[in-house]
Amino acid sequence: MNQKIWFGVFFITTLLIISAFIGLNQSSQLRFANEKIATLEKQVETHSNGDARQKLDEEPKEQTHVAKQAKLSQQIQQLNEKIKELETELNKDTEQEKAKKKVFLTFDDGPSPLTNEILDILNKRDVKATFFTVGNMMEQYPEIVKKTHGNGHMILPHSYSHNYGIYSTFDTFYKDFAKVENVYQSILGIQAPPIFRFPGGSTNQSSFKYGGKQFMPNITADLRDHGYSYVDWNVISGDATAISNKPDKMLEQVIKGSQNKDFVVALFHDIAPNKSTVKILPAVIDFYQKNGYQFRTFRDVTLDEMDEMVKRGIVNKPITDR
Ligand SMILES: [Zn+2]
Repeated sequence: MNQKIWFGVFFITTLLIISAFIGLNQSSQLRFANEKIATLEKQVETHSNGDARQKLDEEPKEQTHVAKQAKLSQQIQQLNEKIKELETELNKDTEQEKAKKKVFLTFDDGPSPLTNEILDILNKRDVKATFFTVGNMMEQYPEIVKKTHGNGHMILPHSYSHNYGIYSTFDTFYKDFAKVENVYQSILGIQAPPIFRFPGGSTNQSSFKYGGKQFMPNITADLRDHGYSYVDWNVISGDATAISNKPDKMLEQVIKGSQNKDFVVALFHDIAPNKSTVKILPAVIDFYQKNGYQFRTFRDVTLDEMDEMVKRGIVNKPITDR
């Protein structure tokens, strides 16, 4: 062979080797690229899964937020409905208050063991009353005083001794008055309100033989000047009179006395012997309920009601010289 042929063979061989090398290199690069793609795909998958996971994590958060908002608007709606309901109720109450007749049941001269029986009836019927209590009886039965007050009824002073001798002078009257106020505060832990009832009432004649006819006009004026209000009554049960053992007559007296009265302050006595008072009490409550009366007490008495009682001569009745 000549030199040209040898050179040709060498050249072709070299080309073959180079292309083989290139081919080898290319396939390794492809393999590398494929591996890289696989890795990236894995990463993408992982990432997207991660995203999904993150989304899953976020979704409950969003849901919680949305749920919270929904719950809050629901609560707001419920509250608005409640407000409307209460406003309607309030208007109804105000209208009823205007339309309804009123009765204040008052019990004097206790407390005594009979008070417990009266409380049982009142509480069972969910009726509240006012008790004008005597200081020396309060000292004997402090637990009954506390129970009466605790059951939501009103306790007001009715002198310490209930002795008409208190009507001798201003000094005898005010000493007794201060004593009952002190007993009141020591038992109930609150100051006695400036509302009370005179033993025998503001127009009593028992005072005549002690301080004279001028005594009640003078003492009532002085008490009013000192900011006190005294309460009388406009219906009696007669349980402190000769008919106190005749429950039928007592009930009749209450009903007759209440005729044509839309504002009643009824007088009873919760002294121990007054079994008839306990006997007629359910029928008395029935009567006032059936006739549209609202039971009221001096515990939540309104200024309008006090004014009304002043007008009707039940509170702060002007006592003129006789
Ligand atoms: Zn009395």
